[in-house]
Amino acid sequence: MIDSHAHLFSEEFNFDLDEVISRAKANNVNKIMSVGFSIKTNDLAYDLASKYSMLYPTCGMHPSEAIYDIKELLTNLEDFIINHKIYAIGECGLDYHYDVDRNKQKILFEEQIKLAIKYNLPLIIHSRDAINDTYELLKKYPKCYGVMHCYSGSKEMALKFLDLGFYISLGGPVTFKNAKTPKEVASIVPLDKLLIETDSPYLAPMPNRGKRNEPSYVRYVLEEISKIKNVDILELDKITENNTIKLFKLEANRA
Ligand SMILES: [Zn+2]
Repeated sequence: MIDSHAHLFSEEFNFDLDEVISRAKANNVNKIMSVGFSIKTNDLAYDLASKYSMLYPTCGMHPSEAIYDIKELLTNLEDFIINHKIYAIGECGLDYHYDVDRNKQKILFEEQIKLAIKYNLPLIIHSRDAINDTYELLKKYPKCYGVMHCYSGSKEMALKFLDLGFYISLGGPVTFKNAKTPKEVASIVPLDKLLIETDSPYLAPMPNRGKRNEPSYVRYVLEEISKIKNVDILELDKITENNTIKLFKLEANRA
């Protein structure tokens, strides 16, 4: 399995990251995307990946960073892209859940789409309560590609993102008993467009809902989707692994 989205630099892992990584390996997780989302965490995500070769670093500016100077964020990000081997731009996107100026969010997001095209990198998209605006911005740029991370929108919107060529990644919420929408989305996403993730330390899947999430739990996401789609779990594992490798151009051995 590949956990296509985790934040292992988070302080929740300060005391036992070696064990967390060992448990991931023991549960057949062989690669983890180390996803940054700010000036500070882009550094942390990269540094961790230098220490653990199963981690593949990304860098981006989360929409909540739009409270800071946008120009400065973007200059910092482009410098980072130029000077580091990274595998995606993100997470970036739009988040209307919190009160952050929407215009500034859109500028920050759109400029990252342009960077992704300029450097031919996939995008990792965060979208919360902003699915229509997210779609409209991505649609403007036919050359951009990537993944809708921990996708939480409707199946109708999922089809539109698939039309743009985007992958759909599902995480813990697909395992929640009352999660009708993510289960519907799981049922309609074509196998060759599906990724799995944890978003550790957030959004732990059943039966660990509410606890700290970690990459070894990605197996619960895989199990649930294999039931929903009625696809053999080993086959689904192989397919989602290949999708992730293809999207992010992951080498077999990074070290
Ligand atoms: Zn995340």
